[in-house]
Amino acid sequence: MKNIILIAPPAAGKGTQSNLLCEKYNLVHISVGDLLRIELQKDGEISQYLKQQMESGNLVKDEIIIEIIKNRLNNVDCKNGFILDGFPRTIRQAEMLDKMNIIINNVFYINVDKETAKNRIVGRISCPKCGSVYNTEIEESIPKVSNVCDRCGSLLQKREDDNELVFENRYNTYVNETQPIIDFYKNKNVLCEIKNLSKMETFNEIQKVLNGDLW
Ligand code: ADP
Repeated sequence: MKNIILIAPPAAGKGTQSNLLCEKYNLVHISVGDLLRIELQKDGEISQYLKQQMESGNLVKDEIIIEIIKNRLNNVDCKNGFILDGFPRTIRQAEMLDKMNIIINNVFYINVDKETAKNRIVGRISCPKCGSVYNTEIEESIPKVSNVCDRCGSLLQKREDDNELVFENRYNTYVNETQPIIDFYKNKNVLCEIKNLSKMETFNEIQKVLNGDLW
């Protein structure tokens, strides 16, 4: 059983690595962004608030996130191991997870520089149904059939917040709110940094660590 956290700037490939890891190690993928996108399709005040925050690249209130995560982690399917993609994103969220007494085996910090992340935004398209992520500008990430999800056959979409203007704010939010949690996990000796590698190189590095080669 492995419980894993992925930390990275926006569009660095957390979703892509999560899908590769889930298939290989039979883990559950918990993408907070995807859970929030399901919530915002419902009618009501909260969905209005979520839409506003997410489309502008600001974080959603810790209280809402913590509630969603607690419910999700209580689900029986998490017992065999999970990947947290997009959580924690603030020190407060990391502290809250700590209090839940769930063992976190590995935290991977996928460190991609700002320009690379920004360029990936331009061609990124994702599956609204299964959350798979593709990129029309990167050879190894193009879907087999144009605009159709390889995994579930749904029509791919461009996310509202995947544009250069919102990216700037998402990136700044990441630097201010999320980067501090890197030290939090460094101090717990569970952090591994992977810097500026391609999709498959990143996956190989993660596998080496999970298979015990590096420890
Ligand atoms: P990416 O990692 O590509 O930026 P996500 O799909 O993970 O995108 O998140 C999209 C948006 O959802 C974020 O910009 C933010 O508004 C909100 N969000 C996701 N996870 C969290 C979180 N842990 N705390 C607060 N807001 C979050």
